[in-house]
This record gives sequence, structure tokens and C-alpha cells, in this order.
Amino acid sequence: MLLEVRDLQVEFHTREGVARAVNGVTYAVAAGETLAVLGESGSGKSVTAQAIMGILDTPPGRIAGGEVLFQGQDLLKLKEEQRRRIRGARMAMIFQDALSSLNPVLTVGAQLGEMYEVHRGTGRRQARVRAVELMERVRIPAAKDRVNDYPHQFSGGMRQRIMIAMALALEPDLIIADEPTTALDVTVQAQVMDLLAELQREFTMGLILITHDLGVVADVADKIAVMYAGRIVETAPVHEIYQRPAHPYTRGLLDSIPRLDQKGQELYAIKGLPPSLLRVPPGCAFHPRCPRARDVCRAEVPPLYEVREDEDEDEGAAGERRSACHFWKETLDG
Ligand code: SF4
Repeated sequence: MLLEVRDLQVEFHTREGVARAVNGVTYAVAAGETLAVLGESGSGKSVTAQAIMGILDTPPGRIAGGEVLFQGQDLLKLKEEQRRRIRGARMAMIFQDALSSLNPVLTVGAQLGEMYEVHRGTGRRQARVRAVELMERVRIPAAKDRVNDYPHQFSGGMRQRIMIAMALALEPDLIIADEPTTALDVTVQAQVMDLLAELQREFTMGLILITHDLGVVADVADKIAVMYAGRIVETAPVHEIYQRPAHPYTRGLLDSIPRLDQKGQELYAIKGLPPSLLRVPPGCAFHPRCPRARDVCRAEVPPLYEVREDEDEDEGAAGERRSACHFWKETLDG
């Protein structure tokens, strides 16, 4: 397995108390596989990614437990210098806001070339040639003429392509893309997502795609992990989750996607807001917002149950589907 996150726990120590931002998260990504991690802001999806990449702000953050096995090696046990070497060369990250992630006073050619100069010891001229190749690879028109342009001279979509190029430069085994298309308009969003999926297939990389939008991952993800209040509440292969979600929160997210065949109808929204991580409700954290909540939901934290479509389903296939809902069977049946 390329990456295995096991029972990861991340806390933030604040003046008001301890916020458990990531509370026992477990997931895995194989080479060439795309895992979409989905949830509203504050669900813990980005904090998990920061812990994997080793870019968590500590303090106030603290990794309180768990393992992050990357190609069998627990990253949490490495020294910062060792982690820095892995970052960029073997795993890379794409952020939502390319403008603040790129250096505004350096040309994009200099920033792309620097990756080769620093990590591979490539000479400046050769590094510039590689920078142009990369820009062409992510389909920046007239790359040769634009290599000396600054980030602000590119459109939002083109800047995001440059971010993808930077992440790809050293041909990492794993890319984590945190809301890579959120700041873009819908058409550009689809183009950037298609490009990312195409490159991921070509380079057989593992890809973790973090998003709050179930609508953007249907065509690119192999499997989905849905997070709520620091925990995973549902995992499933992508087609199964769209057809028959096994958690009321996932169902709510699916019902909130605008649909062309329901033009003019009011869009569904999950009632209420995600909880503060300083005051997570007892039992199932989703119960104050859940249309199916009953007494047991307020008292008992649901474990991640194995979801089986029928009793005869073989164990391996069932193990891929899990739901942290006491009433997952009812939810599955609508
Ligand atoms: Fe809703 Fe209860 Fe399931 Fe939580 S455990 S999602 S409150 S039905």
C-alpha cells in the first residue's frame, strides 16, 4: 500500500479547551488510486492532510496518536529533515489558492526550475528547459513565451495548472490536492480536474482529493471517505456511495447537489451547522442535524459498521464499505 493512515489523532490546544480536529481517522491509498476525502469545513479533512504532509502548525496543533505509513515507513517517527526530503520529492501538495502559494516576486519559470535545481542539482539553463516542458505538460498555451511571466499575469485556472506542474515536477508517488478547484468557475474547474486525473493515471500516482463538493469527484475518484467532526463517517467505492449512501450525512450532501432535472425546485440543504470541535455533541456527532436521529444516537458513538448489501456478500468486498451510523441499513434502503 502506498499510504496508510491508521487511527490518526490531532488536537489543537486553545484557550477555550482542546479541540479534537482529527479523531481516529483511518484510510489507505494505493498507487494509481484516487481517494476523495469529503466534508464541510472544520470536518478535519485538511488537518489530516497537513499531518500526512508534515506541515501542521505545532503548536497549537499536536499529533496525539496514530500512524502515517508511507511506503511502509511511519512518517510520524521521522526527523523534520527526513520529512522535508520526502516532501516535494515523493509526496507533494496542491493548495486551493495558487496566488498565495506561489511566490509573487519570482517568475513561474524560476519557481518551477528551482524544484530541479534544489532537489536534483540540475543547472539553471537545463532547469528552465524542464520548466517549459512542465508548463506544456499542464497545457499552458505558449509556454515558452510565458515562462518569464509572474504568477499575477496568469488567470486563476492557469495558476492552478502551474501549481499542478510544481507538484508534478519531481514525479512524486503521492499528491494531496486540497480543494484544488474551489476558487475557479465551473468550466475551468472541470478542465483542471480532468487534467489532474489524466496526469495521475499517466504517472500512476496515488491522489488524495480533498473537497467539500461531492459534485466534482464523481468522475475522478475511485473511493470516497466522508468526514464529519473529526471522524470518518462513511467510506465506499465511488459508484456505490452515489447510488446508495449508507450514512444520513452523505445522503444530505448528495441531495444538496444541484441537478439539471430539478430546475426551479428549491435546493435541499442539511439543516444546522457543523459543531464546534470544542463542543462535539455526545453520541453520534451528527445527531442534532440528522432526520433519523433516535435516543440511541444521542447516547452511543456509532462505530464504523461494515456495510453489506446482503448477508452473502463476501467479506473483502464488504470491508470496503463502512458507515458510522447505527441505522445504516435503513439509510441504505432510502
Ligand atoms: Fe443519524 Fe443516528 Fe445515524 Fe447518527 S447514528 S447518522 S444520528 S441515524
